[in-house]
Amino acid sequence: MYGWLRDIGDFFFPRCCLVCGRVLLHDEDFLCCHCLLNLPRTGYGNVPDNPMEQLFYGKLPVERCNAYFLFTEGGDYRRLIHRIKYNGEKECGAYLGNLFARENAATGFFDSIDYLVPVPLHRRKLRQRGYNQSEWIAQGIADVTGIPLCTDLLECVTDRPSQTRKGIYDRWLSTREAFKANPGIVPADSHVLLVDDVVTTGATLLACGKALGDLGISRISICALSLAK
Ligand SMILES: [Zn+2]
Repeated sequence: MYGWLRDIGDFFFPRCCLVCGRVLLHDEDFLCCHCLLNLPRTGYGNVPDNPMEQLFYGKLPVERCNAYFLFTEGGDYRRLIHRIKYNGEKECGAYLGNLFARENAATGFFDSIDYLVPVPLHRRKLRQRGYNQSEWIAQGIADVTGIPLCTDLLECVTDRPSQTRKGIYDRWLSTREAFKANPGIVPADSHVLLVDDVVTTGATLLACGKALGDLGISRISICALSLAK
């Protein structure tokens, strides 16, 4: 945006930090400098056996796992994810996806990835929300890495109830049949990077990975914007 246009916009409609609420300065986007600097980055990069990868031990063979930052329930950065997911702040998802990719590109995390595949939303939820936050995050990663986005490989076929209050086993039961992978979209030997917004138990990503496996796609890596601490 033209600088002077933003200045006029900021004067009448001040933009606020999505974490602390402070009014943003001219060259700040979505987060103030302080909150961006203090974002609890995982620093996993391309390190094997990191806590994100451990979630899938014995359940799904994955090549690499990474998450941008950690969150705690009720914490400031949990609020940030909530804003991206439910409050229409989709551009912030792309912005953070972009930062994540920039900060992790040199680690080799994105090397040999053929497609970015965001975790899909069910049609009803997509209609209700108007956007898929994981797709915006993946778009931010695609803008930096140049890896193509593939949104028609995976489909969410079960309109399942909210998982917020369920246990791990219940989550898995309600999630495992929720996704379907469509044949003929990508070659079976492709290396796919699944992109999600928030990871707690990993049940959703596990179900996505199983659906890809059913199609013979075995080279799977996983990343998310945020991982539960
Ligand atoms: Zn802030």
